Amino acid sequence: MNYDVIICGTGIAGIYTALNINSDLRIAIITNDKLENCNTYLAQGGITTVRGKEDRESFIKDTLYAGGNENNLETVKLIAKEAEKNIKKLVSMGVPFNRGDDGNILYTKEAAHSKRRILYSNDQTGKYIFLTLVEKMKKRKNITIYSKVEILDLIVSEGNSCGVLGCNKNKDILKFWGKKVVLATGGIGGLFKNSTNRRNLKGIGIALSKKNMVEISNIGAIQFHPTAFYDPQSERRFLISESLRGEGAELKDLEGNRFVDELLPRDVVAASIEAKKKEIGSPYVYLDATKLKGDFLRVRFKGIYENLLEKGYDLTKDMIPVTTSQHYFMGGITVDMDGKTNLNNLYACGEVAFTGLHGKNRLASNSLLEGLVFGNRVANDINKEIWSKRGKDKQVEVEKNINIEKIKESNKRLVIDEILKVREDLKDELSIN
Ligand SMILES: Cc1cc2nc3c(=O)[nH]c(=O)nc-3n(C[C@H](O)[C@H](O)[C@H](O)COP(=O)(O)OP(=O)(O)OC[C@H]3O[C@@H](n4cnc5c(N)ncnc54)[C@H](O)[C@@H]3O)c2cc1C
Repeated sequence: MNYDVIICGTGIAGIYTALNINSDLRIAIITNDKLENCNTYLAQGGITTVRGKEDRESFIKDTLYAGGNENNLETVKLIAKEAEKNIKKLVSMGVPFNRGDDGNILYTKEAAHSKRRILYSNDQTGKYIFLTLVEKMKKRKNITIYSKVEILDLIVSEGNSCGVLGCNKNKDILKFWGKKVVLATGGIGGLFKNSTNRRNLKGIGIALSKKNMVEISNIGAIQFHPTAFYDPQSERRFLISESLRGEGAELKDLEGNRFVDELLPRDVVAASIEAKKKEIGSPYVYLDATKLKGDFLRVRFKGIYENLLEKGYDLTKDMIPVTTSQHYFMGGITVDMDGKTNLNNLYACGEVAFTGLHGKNRLASNSLLEGLVFGNRVANDINKEIWSKRGKDKQVEVEKNINIEKIKESNKRLVIDEILKVREDLKDELSIN
């Protein structure tokens, strides 16, 4: 199958890239599950913007503070500069962000943001962004969508990325040829026993990079979210958004005593919860939102409220048992400011990419924004470059006897081994078998 561009992943990064590529280029966009089974769909709290030039310094300061100053300043400045225009574009596409009675967009606040600059759609922001982007994508005749196609490897020839190898649910091997390949395959949560992530996200971008000598950075930078619902039975941990704490919910021990400033950066709050759990010998602590008005909670946090009711907890009346859970991957495939990797014609954006934005700890709601800004930059670079490359591509022989299960297992193992080289402390957290 021949295309101009192959995009792997249908989250915010993959779809926004596709929508920003010139509509006369033929694009294949691939996902290994149903379209909506991506982390983007799960995002609750919101998406950060930068509210005018006068907010840039403050956004930069907050992002550096959360990231322990280990961020790449050039990237943080770039995001500060380009956030607003991309968010405006998203708004103009029709995402139903919450608005006040005057029709103006409302902004919320989350941990370590010094002001309200986060757009939200109640507590299901990712779902509404995703649905809006997908609707636009389905109208574009130049984009072909491949669902339930597992990507297994890159096709590389003479130092150029020229496609990907995948398989469908009938186990047929599929070859997608493209002049440019974009990896937007998200995070690594599917490799962990307890994660807020979709289980189908097993760090394929990292495995492909390792196999093809593409540079990766900060593989050990893995974020644990402070407040996932404590449920030892469930495969995926249900997240309770930070914006609930932003609106005043408190963290308490089993006796009902507060023990931490809830709006400190995520890593600090998560460490404090782990220390408290150890001290009191409990697998969870409580999140208490009962001082907030019931009517407000039922509307503003509708998704969380209803989900918890199904689990037997009333957010307006009950203390909710919570614990930390793997949530986000700050490391990834090393890219430049246009999302280019060190392999010719290979780009990466979104959670799979390492741009240096987050440092050692991601500031809440900066991830969707990063996917947007870098998706746009990748698309612009492809639009600029692809013309000069037309007609020069050539086909490459691909191995004939492919053992799909073996490749899938070794891809997973490759990523786990890479993590364990620098984070032996995570051995018990990873799904090794
Ligand atoms: C519960 C939850 C809440 C969150 N809340 C927020 C929030 O409020 N604000 C915020 O900014 N961030 C939030 N995040 C983080 C944010 O949602 C993600 O970082 C972001 O959506 C990543 O987007 P992406 O496009 O890079 O990847 P994803 O949206 O995860 O998409 C990855 C895509 O890659 C595909 N894929 C993966 N492996 C393969 C393979 N082998 N073959 C084919 N396809 C493959 C997947 O099917 C999927 O389509 C949250 C995350 C979670 C889990």
